Amino acid sequence: MRDKGLAKRIADERVHVLTALASKALHADETDLARRYAKLANEIITHYRLGRAGGSRKLCKSCGFLLEPGVTCDVRMASSKRQMIYKCRLCGREMKIHY
Ligand SMILES: [Zn+2]
Repeated sequence: MRDKGLAKRIADERVHVLTALASKALHADETDLARRYAKLANEIITHYRLGRAGGSRKLCKSCGFLLEPGVTCDVRMASSKRQMIYKCRLCGREMKIHY
C-alpha cells in the first residue's frame, strides 16, 4: 500500500530543493536553467497537488517562473490590508500573501 503522506513530503522536499537550485542558477545568470528547475518544480506541485504553501509559494501562479525579490519580482507591503504583494516582472501577475 502506498503512503500518500510520505510521497507528498518527499515531493515537497524536492520542490524546496528545485526552487533553491533555480534561485542559485538565477543569480549565476543562467536563466534557462532556472526556468527548467522552476518548470520541474511546477510539474511536481501539479502531480502531487501540493497547494501553494512553503517552497511552491516562490513560484508565479501564472507563468511558473521563480519569484526572486528584486530580480524577477517586485514586493510591496500593503500594511493596512496586512498583505505582501509580489508582482511578477515577466507576466505582471500579482500574488497577495497575508501575514
Ligand atoms: Zn509570472
